[in-house]
Amino acid sequence: MNRNILSVFRRWGTAYPAVVSMFVFLNAQAQPQPEPLRVQQVRRSIYQVQGGSGANTGFFVGKSEVLVIDAKMTEESAKAMIAEIGKVTQNPVRRILLTHSDRDHVNGLPGFPGGLSIIAHEETRRLMDQAFQEYPLRSYLPDITFSERLSLYVDSTRLELLYFGPAHTCGDIVVYFPAEKLVFVGDVLFIGRDPLIHLAKNGSSFGLVKVLKSILELDADLYLSGHADAAGRADLEALIQSLEEKQAKVKALADQGRTLEEVKAACGVEPGGRWMSLYEVIYRELTEKK
Ligand SMILES: [Zn+2]
Repeated sequence: MNRNILSVFRRWGTAYPAVVSMFVFLNAQAQPQPEPLRVQQVRRSIYQVQGGSGANTGFFVGKSEVLVIDAKMTEESAKAMIAEIGKVTQNPVRRILLTHSDRDHVNGLPGFPGGLSIIAHEETRRLMDQAFQEYPLRSYLPDITFSERLSLYVDSTRLELLYFGPAHTCGDIVVYFPAEKLVFVGDVLFIGRDPLIHLAKNGSSFGLVKVLKSILELDADLYLSGHADAAGRADLEALIQSLEEKQAKVKALADQGRTLEEVKAACGVEPGGRWMSLYEVIYRELTEKK
């Protein structure tokens, strides 16, 4: 604590404990402590990490290395995740896959060792290149990108990195483990709330339906996502149905010439909110066609 602040406290005399506790209180208010990390083994060699700062992540333990999926949001949380991996295996983390460019999935990258190979869709790299203007993030841009599909091997285990088109953003990939019948789907699956579509990143609700249907064509029965517990096929089917119903409702209203404000009111959208509502996204997609 610097001396000027200390001298202020001295002048306040007996008010010191109250002032300190107020600072502690304000600090706690401003920076809520993230939940502790929870590591769950979901398949023999595949783990999901929930809690901490940022979205859920995952890792695959191979015979000689660990492959990580998504990076958490802070350096601190990423380091905590690496410490958790160290409790499972001594194998080094050499490669990380990024499901998309949102900060809660990528901003923890500086918590990883340098020299790491970072793999993402080419559109995700483009968005990260725009966002990562300063050190240290700037030194964590993906060094391997692809447009449609990339096969990777960790020892003898094959993974498929697949791109099915714009959905949550324009660069969402899914990471498919065929032998394990498991898919990491990033943020194309939300459960218990409307999916978030970033129009500013050229996301698309109609694209999301297409992507979810493509994911269901993979031979899998377990789906790990950024913000929900492990899901099954029924969760994906329910999301497709709910999206299609909402799209049909907004389309009917738009076809009647209703304005955006009328559509939001008719669909029960609460004013405010941190993110654009799904109904507004759909309306804009239908009416702002380029
Ligand atoms: Zn996201």
